[in-house]
Amino acid sequence: MSSKKRIALFGSTGSIGTQALNVVREHPGMFEVIVLTAQTNDELLAKQALEFNPAVAIIGDESRYEKLKEALSNTPVLVQAGNQAIEDAAERDDYEIMLAAIVGFAGLKPTLKAVAKGKIIALANKETLVVAGDVVMQLAVENKAPIIPVDSEHSAIFQCLVGEARNPIEKIILTASGGPFLGKKPNFLVNVKRDHALQHPNWSMGAKISVDSATLMNKGLEMIEAKWLFNLEPSQIEVIIHPQSVIHSMVQFADGSMKAQMGLPDMKLPIQYALGFPNRLKNTFERFNFRKYPNLSFEEPDYKTFRNLGLAIEALNNGGNMPCILNAANEIAVWAFLKNRIGFLDITAVVEKTMQKINFIKNPSLEEYFDSDGEARNFAASLLKL
Ligand code: NAD
Ligand code: MG
Repeated sequence: MSSKKRIALFGSTGSIGTQALNVVREHPGMFEVIVLTAQTNDELLAKQALEFNPAVAIIGDESRYEKLKEALSNTPVLVQAGNQAIEDAAERDDYEIMLAAIVGFAGLKPTLKAVAKGKIIALANKETLVVAGDVVMQLAVENKAPIIPVDSEHSAIFQCLVGEARNPIEKIILTASGGPFLGKKPNFLVNVKRDHALQHPNWSMGAKISVDSATLMNKGLEMIEAKWLFNLEPSQIEVIIHPQSVIHSMVQFADGSMKAQMGLPDMKLPIQYALGFPNRLKNTFERFNFRKYPNLSFEEPDYKTFRNLGLAIEALNNGGNMPCILNAANEIAVWAFLKNRIGFLDITAVVEKTMQKINFIKNPSLEEYFDSDGEARNFAASLLKL
């Protein structure tokens, strides 16, 4: 058996997935790609499989199976299709690290299966912890599955905590760029369209998280993600707008001292850190230069305009199935916004109404999380037809 780290990339054709493959390319001989999965982009998946020669390549959309099979017909790569096959691949014995880079609720089931197998999880899919953080973290403890964050803020905090195991956290401060509409007011936001919302100033990301960044929902989801990753009370989690995205987040300890982790806004860094952990791997990525950033600035979020952040904080404080409901409604609303079916501010309205409508459960089982997700999706979708 080789001494390479054997990795499974779930969501390999996305923004995180493709950047992870850049990290793999940067370190020849260090990683072996065992699993590649995608939902619809069979062409890119085939290209990736030809280059990285995984044991298996899986396309979620079954109608694309024949095309993928044909493209890989001269290779030993096992070709599979369907979302059940994606889930089942998480249980394979031949990999060590799952990069969980599927977007949305769809990432939860495969990640749960990998956690149950005691795999190392490099977690990009924040929705997994937003929806069912208590179940996921409990399962991770039971199966000794380390969860290493890929989200840049959480990677920053994780890095700040190295060597601090005996020192409790007083609070954490998540930085937020503010997104493309920083400083804008509702009279502007009411008219913004998909393409404008997708123009993030500092990061190039998938469509869903780009919209979440524009509405500040992303930061709310990250507060909930942080609660579970670092075992925090809601009152220990703060957000500050930092438009340059150079400080990726901070931790304050009992003595008032703070640690911040800094770097260029480049997702390859947290991806590489998670895949290489506990080692820092040498690379040729561009270095940060203070002279190019003479001003690092900080400001309070505009909670009045970006109401999604307040709704997420409400879900964080209430706990139970509320974050799951928030997430489901948001996924439906963002999908509708991306299809030009609703306006930017309608996203908040859909989330708020769904949170008011769906029954609150204080201590849901995993099954109840799935039910709440389904109910919230149905209700949010019914609002869109009005
Ligand atoms: P993306 O849309 O670019 O890629 C998503 C990937 O998931 C694709 O490979 C796609 O084929 C797959 N996928 C989509 N729907 C699926 C389904 N129903 N079943 C199975 N696979 C499916 O998304 P992204 O920007 O790479 O984000 C991935 C995750 O990482 C998200 O949870 C996001 O919040 C998180 N994240 C992303 C970034 C970033 O810079 N892009 C930063 C931090 C966290
Ligand atoms: Mg982030």
